[in-house]
Amino acid sequence: MKVSFCGACREVTGSCILIETESEKFLVDCGLFQDDRSKMKNAYRFPFDPLEIDFVLLTHAHTDHCGRLPKLVKDGFCGNIYATPATIDLAEQMMLDSAKVFLSNEDINPIYFSSDIEATMNFFSPVSYGQEYSINKNIRIRLCDAGHILGSAIFEVWVKEKGKETKLVFTGDLGNANAPIVKDTEFIDGADYVFIESTYGLEKHETREIGRKKLREEILETIKEKGVLVIPVFALERTQEMIFELRNLFESGGVRKIPVFLDSPLAVRVTDIYKKYTNLFDDDIKRIVKHKKDDVFNFDSFKMVRKKGDSIKFQRVQNPKIIMAGSGMCNGGRVLEHLKNNLPIRNNRLFIISFQVEGSLGRSLAEGEKNIIIGEKKVKVRSSVNTTRAFSSHADFPKISDWLSKIKNPHPCNVFVIHGEEENSINMANKLKESYKINTIVPEYGKYYEL
Ligand SMILES: [Zn+2]
Repeated sequence: MKVSFCGACREVTGSCILIETESEKFLVDCGLFQDDRSKMKNAYRFPFDPLEIDFVLLTHAHTDHCGRLPKLVKDGFCGNIYATPATIDLAEQMMLDSAKVFLSNEDINPIYFSSDIEATMNFFSPVSYGQEYSINKNIRIRLCDAGHILGSAIFEVWVKEKGKETKLVFTGDLGNANAPIVKDTEFIDGADYVFIESTYGLEKHETREIGRKKLREEILETIKEKGVLVIPVFALERTQEMIFELRNLFESGGVRKIPVFLDSPLAVRVTDIYKKYTNLFDDDIKRIVKHKKDDVFNFDSFKMVRKKGDSIKFQRVQNPKIIMAGSGMCNGGRVLEHLKNNLPIRNNRLFIISFQVEGSLGRSLAEGEKNIIIGEKKVKVRSSVNTTRAFSSHADFPKISDWLSKIKNPHPCNVFVIHGEEENSINMANKLKESYKINTIVPEYGKYYEL
């Protein structure tokens, strides 16, 4: 069997792996390239014929994993797309948002339209966690909870060729330790080949306790300075976690309650989907949902901006206040308006809690850039800017290393290290090789590898 990488190798976005067995061709993920250096690859022809792809395995609903599916369908793919029911609902919203971004940006040639998304939705085939599913006589799959975002899955894939079975494991993105909403990452018994993410390389994240302490300090300072605290958020998972963290902080009396606005129509729609899948939540949060029978994504000083006019109304609300808005990397969306209005003012604050891809505005701000350009406007950053990785929804190195060490029956002989900036992937591959005496490969875009 042959594997080639059509994205997310030596970079973070554009996840798409092609597996060619003696009788089938399938993809794992088909994501959009989202960083500035590789965005042009979204418009490229796929390095395979979409008509020849038998099926797709979709690990989760982040755009860098699902965002090229409508293009795949538009270009001729007509097989099943296997994913959890939550991923299917979330992916629809994420793809619709991408189509909207294409249309609202004159510099981008849309690679698909909402009608292509409608067509794509017909190809989804739901598979639940833990259930073994035979795709055909040669291939069976099982999905385990990756603990990354709602619905995220690790795919175990058994491929039979010439009477011999080989087990491949695709991690998708692996979740951070002690995430409050989603369950913990499940362990895998054994694998011949593992395809593992490396978003954070060898980094060790701050603990959630430190993150919570920092969040509390940000709010206390905002109250003291009568300022605005802007928190850029990803619509998916980070928003819901942040609502939950703020709710806990206010309700425990940790800080005085101040108005909080969520200004992201996508995040509002995604939060509604989260409410539909409380059965997938971690036990701790499930207990709260059951006992208090209340909505964990709400509290009295919290407002979701559902209409554009509301955004302006909320901006007029007296300080201190908190504004959460997308996009999480500040490279588009309503957060730009809030940055433009609030960064030039000394007593305001910006708190960056998400991964910032190279080249994004969020990355420049996190690295301390004081002169930025938003649209055509030059903006001077006078507000304070702080960051934390404690709320990341990605595993750090200690967690990835521990997760990999538990795969024993068999221990994988080869590990492909993907979904990371080049240096991070190489460092992780070297460290894993040294620790576990396994062969690690940092694959290259467009190259194929014989398994
Ligand atoms: Zn992800």
